[in-house]
Amino acid sequence: MLEEAVERASVRAVSTHRLPPPPSALRGRIVVAAVAVGAFAAAGAGQTLTSGKGSNEVTPLASAKDNSAALGVGGNAPSAPQILPVSKATDGSFEAQKLAKSQQITQEREAAEAEAKRPKFVRPANGAFTSGYGGRWGTTHYGIDIAGPIGTPIYSAADGVVIEAGPASGFGLWVRVEHSDGTITVYGHVDSYNVREGQRVKAGEQIARMGNRGFSTGPHLHFEVWVAGGQKINPLTWLNARGVTV
Ligand SMILES: [Zn+2]
Repeated sequence: MLEEAVERASVRAVSTHRLPPPPSALRGRIVVAAVAVGAFAAAGAGQTLTSGKGSNEVTPLASAKDNSAALGVGGNAPSAPQILPVSKATDGSFEAQKLAKSQQITQEREAAEAEAKRPKFVRPANGAFTSGYGGRWGTTHYGIDIAGPIGTPIYSAADGVVIEAGPASGFGLWVRVEHSDGTITVYGHVDSYNVREGQRVKAGEQIARMGNRGFSTGPHLHFEVWVAGGQKINPLTWLNARGVTV
């Protein structure tokens, strides 16, 4: 009897001290909490508390890790399309260089054609031819005169370098341009000039404006041509020989 009673009591005690198994909803919450705490805790909780369900809950973590690994940079697959744009850019800049080069060649050819076409000698001013080279009023007139309103543009008769631009006795203000063969052209009585000594000018480029300065009887350009050595020749002959009429 006593043995039986002890046995019952111990069974009762055991059964009262035994914890009831947690319902599945509670187990789920425990697993979620464990996952939130950390992967290590989740793994431990899953193993301790449940059998299959715990490991199912953990699986998404692992697959998420896999996905992030697949999407991460540094893999072999993602780096391949990154090389393509680089090689394309290289090709593009090469094409751009070829285009720029061909444009440069075209521009150089057009410039050469324009250079070949442009006149190398021009009439130094528009206006009335009022006086020629030679004897005049008991003296020698060493140039030709072209008359026009004050301010009429005066052009360099040929390509050259300005060797003087400023005051000159008898001419008021003058400009002198030296050409490649040593010939010097002289532009006298100018009202103003827009070039300076040492400046390169082209045939037909404006260098001054017509004026009435110095020994002048009315606004005009006095134009002279000095050949190398200083002799003053007939400007009309010089111009006509170069296809220019005045
Ligand atoms: Zn004159």
